[in-house]
Amino acid sequence: MDLEHLPPLRDVLDAHGLMAKKSFGQHFLFDLNITRKIARLAGVGAGDHVIEVGPGPGGLTRALLETGAQVTAVEKDPRFLPLLAELGEAANGALTVHLDDALTADETALAAGRPTAIVSNLPYNVGTPLLIKWLTGPFTPTSLTLMFQKEVAERIVAAPGSDAYGRLAVIAQATADARLVMEVSPRAFTPPPKVTSAVVHLVPHAQRLDQALLESLQTLTAAAFGQRRKMLRSSLKQLGGETICEAAGIDPSRRAETLDVEEFLKLARAR
Ligand code: SAM
Repeated sequence: MDLEHLPPLRDVLDAHGLMAKKSFGQHFLFDLNITRKIARLAGVGAGDHVIEVGPGPGGLTRALLETGAQVTAVEKDPRFLPLLAELGEAANGALTVHLDDALTADETALAAGRPTAIVSNLPYNVGTPLLIKWLTGPFTPTSLTLMFQKEVAERIVAAPGSDAYGRLAVIAQATADARLVMEVSPRAFTPPPKVTSAVVHLVPHAQRLDQALLESLQTLTAAAFGQRRKMLRSSLKQLGGETICEAAGIDPSRRAETLDVEEFLKLARAR
């Protein structure tokens, strides 16, 4: 069997007697047109290395393997291992599967020195912490192509002044270029989630932020957006309020949501 002649995903799942588990955030994509589009948006191709989180029955995995990429998959649910082993055989060894929790997985070890893109139809309950881990942790991927609930995707790419603008936008945009590249209807998933989803493509900046600066930015944005309607002099009081605003050249009577990412970085440097 090769990749082209694999049976439909639905049949594979039935043959293994598998159903989606809510506790693992499982909503599967069976439509290869959609998974192929995600693989195209990720921009991966022959010889590239990809870490895929949560392959589940392997719809997105198939599309990634079809591009000729080498895929290292991290899946928490052991029920999928036999089915993914079949997929690995069809891909002539281009797929390696690790039974692990992506929240604690060591991407540096998984990448083993190869430039690595991360692609995932993420389990929604851990999507945001995983994104923060990949943008601020020790391992920097070449790009991230990730499915989120649309509302979360909008918070990642939000511009200052909008309701969606907050901590997530500042951390994401301070560390990467982020674009919302595709919306996906609940009908595309089995079982369908309650809300619309969206794919975000992020390319980390070539110049990584210094770890201390990143930590300062996380602390500042937590305080500033924790009280987003208050003026900075008050929301940042515990962190130096007026003094750091002055040092950064920012009017302390402004509110968090009016500051752009560059201004947050100025504040973080002033601490
Ligand atoms: N990639 C498949 C697809 O597109 O059809 C499945 C996507 S489903 C939304 C999320 C997948 O992530 C499931 O296979 C689930 O078991 C897995 N998962 C959930 N939490 C995980 C974690 N902490 N680490 C690794 N995989 C996880």
